[in-house]
Amino acid sequence: MHNLLGFSQENSSSSNEVVDDHFSTSKNYFVSDKILVHFLQKEFSSTVWSFIQARLTKLGKNAASNMDELSMTADKNPPKLVKRDLFGRDIQKITYHPAYKALLKIAVDAGILSIKWNPTFRSVYKGQLHRMGFSLAFIYGMGESGVSCPLCMTDGAAMILDKYLPPGDSKRFIEHIYTSEVEHLYTGAMFLTEKAGGSDVGANQLLATKVGESSYLLNGEKWFCSNASAEIKLVLARTDSGIKGTQGLSLFLVENSQFDDSGGTMEYVRLKDKLGVKSMATAEINFKNTQATIIGKEGEGFKIMTEMINLSRLWNAVISIAGLRRCLIEAYQFLCFRHTFGKRALEHALVRNKLYELASRYVADFYLTWKTIGMLDKLEAGEDEYQSMLRVLIPMVKKKSAETSVYAIRECMELLGGLGYIEEGVLPKFMRDSMVLPIWEGTGNMMILDTLRACHKGDGLEKLVHQTKESLAKKPGMNKELANFNYILGQLDTLEVVDRETAEYNAKEIFEKMTLYIQLGFLINQEDRESASWIRPTIHWLRHQLSDKKELIKSPITTEEIIRMIAWGF
Ligand SMILES: Cc1cc2nc3c(=O)[nH]c(=O)nc-3n(C[C@H](O)[C@H](O)[C@H](O)COP(=O)(O)OP(=O)(O)OC[C@H]3O[C@@H](n4cnc5c(N)ncnc54)[C@H](O)[C@@H]3O)c2cc1C
Repeated sequence: MHNLLGFSQENSSSSNEVVDDHFSTSKNYFVSDKILVHFLQKEFSSTVWSFIQARLTKLGKNAASNMDELSMTADKNPPKLVKRDLFGRDIQKITYHPAYKALLKIAVDAGILSIKWNPTFRSVYKGQLHRMGFSLAFIYGMGESGVSCPLCMTDGAAMILDKYLPPGDSKRFIEHIYTSEVEHLYTGAMFLTEKAGGSDVGANQLLATKVGESSYLLNGEKWFCSNASAEIKLVLARTDSGIKGTQGLSLFLVENSQFDDSGGTMEYVRLKDKLGVKSMATAEINFKNTQATIIGKEGEGFKIMTEMINLSRLWNAVISIAGLRRCLIEAYQFLCFRHTFGKRALEHALVRNKLYELASRYVADFYLTWKTIGMLDKLEAGEDEYQSMLRVLIPMVKKKSAETSVYAIRECMELLGGLGYIEEGVLPKFMRDSMVLPIWEGTGNMMILDTLRACHKGDGLEKLVHQTKESLAKKPGMNKELANFNYILGQLDTLEVVDRETAEYNAKEIFEKMTLYIQLGFLINQEDRESASWIRPTIHWLRHQLSDKKELIKSPITTEEIIRMIAWGF
């Protein structure tokens, strides 16, 4: 007997095997992904689609066949800090396992950065670059999360250099970012966090002393420096210790030559021993009269850095949904071929219930992330009205996708039973890697506070509310949701008039409910004949989450519905 996808339904539990003989894994993470393919094909014109489709297909195959081994090897062999050479001379060097370099090469060959920064692509594909670049980053993220950090930082650094340096100066760096030769690649990094301040960036103390028109010397320490050996380091520092808070911060470009072995002015104090994202180096760095060039004007540092953070938060979201997609597929493929109690594990009611929940969470975050990225593209194409909406959405997307990823990857691990816990498989690595997603680029609490600020400033919230209400009104039977959404908006207004302590204390629940309504609106708008297979059950699931009186007895989702919802072509 065969079902929808042709899996054998025969009971093989009499043979003493973990999975039946038909077990197979994906050959291509792009081609198999009906949700991603459907979404991107709708977003792009046919010319753009055929261009990006070819690249995605190539990377999808590479990710499914080569990246796991490299990624696990790089994870087990993290970078090392070398402070002395054979002859006892002081040096400053971070060494990487060849697997890390091979992973970087895959990213360069795939064009994740060159799509966005090659001047020809920038002019031909203007207004679509983020969706194009992020679609490649998504497939890459299904294979490796650690290297995604340097890629993210490089993309952000390129954006800042392109915008704030004179073209002649920025070209020197950017041509190394869109290079097709990994040996010539320059990567970027962003150092904000100090011992005194990660969330509280205004507490930063690193001091910048002016020594020339745009030249400064930096003194002090940065406490978390990821992609520590990056050629392009963007560093926040205080030009005037008398100006407190973020107003006193300026942004500086520091080049790697400062790590000169013979008495350099930068010192790696040590590398952090991390829970995850181990392939990439995170260091503590001391600056001792380090030469730096100011970017923008004195006092503008935090504002400029925020532009980079907005982009890196979207990277964070893409890596969150990519990791979750990968783990969901790992669990799904296993459950399709695992037999317990006389049937395929996929067919047990509780397994279906869990997959329904996880797939819904994934689909909801998928559209939230991609619609936000689409808005960034529109903004870059000159549609300024998206600016204020992005201010509300970006911290929202960052928090939501990161938290879903951590929660759901653990659930996927459990769906694989004992095998999910074994280091030969990819689940433990993805689990460890995902744990940082809610922390770096700003913790969940900071995302709530950022969103609240954005809601009460500008017209971003107003526009999003209008869109969401329009979508809810379009779908029959949504009166209760519309009424409840209005109630949440009323509560949000109240946050503006109560004292700050009460506002912050109550912000989380209101923020999280609002996110779900915005997701509901996006989903309703995206539904068409094909995507109904995954969007419709997700809408149903979201409505259930939002209802005040949940029906606890529901009719079970069928195996066929689950298969359509996961939408994976093996
Ligand atoms: C692996 C890794 C790599 C990193 N790489 C980099 C990097 O390359 N560059 C860089 O600049 N930073 C980096 N970071 C630092 C990271 O961005 C910070 O750790 C993070 O922003 C939190 O700052 P903190 O550690 O100082 O925590 P704190 O700010 O001390 O926060 C502690 C807790 O208090 C909460 N909290 C703080 N203030 C408030 C408030 N006002 N309201 C409510 N809750 C609050 C936070 O949410 C958190 O839960 C990295 C971190 C990690 C783990």
